[in-house]
Amino acid sequence: MHQARDISEHERTLLALREGQERLNAALEASRTGTFSWNLQTGVSHLDENLVRLFGMAPTQTQTTVEGFLPLVHPEDRQALLTNTQRSLNEGADFEMEFRVVWPDQSVHWFYSRGKTSFDQAGRPDSMIGACVDITERRRLVESEALALDKAREENRFRRLLEAAPDAILEVDAQGQIVLMNQVAETMFGYSREELLGMNVESLVPAAMRGNHQRHRASYRTSPQTRSMGIGLELKAQRKDGSLFPVEISLSPNWIDGTLHVIALVRDISERKESQDRLRAIQERYAAQLFAANQQLEARNEEVENANRLKSEFLASMSHELRTPLHTIIGFSELLIEELEGPLNAKQKRFVGHVLQDARHLLQLINEVLDISKIEAGRLELQREAFDFAVCLGEALAGIQSQALAKNIRIENRNTFSDLLYADRLRIKEILYNLLSNAIKFTSNGGLVWIESVADESFLRVTVADTGIGIPPEEQTAIFEKFYQVGMSTSGVREGTGLGLPITKNLVELHGGRIWVESQPGHGSRFTLTLPLQGQQS
Ligand code: ADP
Repeated sequence: MHQARDISEHERTLLALREGQERLNAALEASRTGTFSWNLQTGVSHLDENLVRLFGMAPTQTQTTVEGFLPLVHPEDRQALLTNTQRSLNEGADFEMEFRVVWPDQSVHWFYSRGKTSFDQAGRPDSMIGACVDITERRRLVESEALALDKAREENRFRRLLEAAPDAILEVDAQGQIVLMNQVAETMFGYSREELLGMNVESLVPAAMRGNHQRHRASYRTSPQTRSMGIGLELKAQRKDGSLFPVEISLSPNWIDGTLHVIALVRDISERKESQDRLRAIQERYAAQLFAANQQLEARNEEVENANRLKSEFLASMSHELRTPLHTIIGFSELLIEELEGPLNAKQKRFVGHVLQDARHLLQLINEVLDISKIEAGRLELQREAFDFAVCLGEALAGIQSQALAKNIRIENRNTFSDLLYADRLRIKEILYNLLSNAIKFTSNGGLVWIESVADESFLRVTVADTGIGIPPEEQTAIFEKFYQVGMSTSGVREGTGLGLPITKNLVELHGGRIWVESQPGHGSRFTLTLPLQGQQS
């Protein structure tokens, strides 16, 4: 009775134990967990049947070693597994890590593993007991969630980029239907997102241009690359309300699963065009104003030229009229002073002398005025002939001889040109005379004046130089202008007309030559002129 009770108690305990064991097993199996116990003395690890199954091993393979197990571990996790194990044995800490096992069919299984080390009395680790949970499913879930999150983030970024663009962006599929657009596109074209999605892109093109647009789309498909659309054309787009606006469009190909989508960037250039038009209008207005002003100016110019010509013509005829009586005055004064018709007393002689001197001066003045007005009226014509330049120079020198003598100025003739010159003889003499008489006029008593003339192949170069007062650099151009005299502004009007040099310059230029001056105040002046020898008659 006692024994029977004992047995039944023992059996109950066994029964309870077995039940507990079965429950545990069921729980382990349900949670995809397997256990192991590793004897560190023998190096043998015992795996329960769950773990054997989870690791994809043969059902009988319940015992293994580190060397036997390691080849099942994913190559990338092997080193970490060894290091972690070693560390927990050394430090007596719990073993914990995630690693992968590769089944014979090459499928990969993730495990979360924990193990606890026990130590013998000497404090040496002698065993490790632990469990591995198959977390493949959970990891896959987590990974796909992360992937989905990444994708969502990516899409979000793309959206933001799309919406941040200042231009309308439209993606059009192979059939010409809009499959994607941004907010700008909605406002620009006046359609809602729902209306735009699936709409044919042709609806955004003005009716008159649709035919062209279809051709354009077809040609784009033959060479799809990023480029501007309709370069040089005035592109227009059409809003929902039918109104048109100018645009600039840039196209990019976007291959989706082997079919060509086109992304169009559309920019509304109304404002730019308006400001361009405004600018053009302003430019045109200014151009018109400028044109009118120019015409007025031309008319004024013509008037001024006419007036100038009239003045010159008047002067020319007046001078002519003035010369005739002057010749009479000069001629009769000369007769009187020569006393051929009877003697004059000293006073009378002096008076007639004054009349003669001033009449001659007046004649010179009139001659110069006549010359300049003839030149300005374009009526001065050269009478060219071939003549001996040396003789002509001799005559000019003779003409100024008395002036030079009166001031005791020495004149040197350094002419080397002994050929014939083809030019207006009287005018050349006038040029030389003007320069020489200026040289004497502006050189003090006892000075020196000389004339050099040299010919090269194409020019005769004549220089009249003096040791006189010279000309300040800032006045060296002005002296060739009409009525200009050096120091005019400070010392008032002087003897002379200020016409000699302008006439000389004009005569030289009429001959095709040039004239210029080099001078240092106080050290004399050098007037040089050139006369072309080409066109000379031989
Ligand atoms: P005019 O001699 O009748 O005053 P010109 O036209 O011949 O007129 O000369 C203009 C001015 O140039 C002169 O008044 C003088 O001031 C200056 N000038 C001309 N030749 C000389 C010279 N050889 N030396 C210094 N000054 C000169």
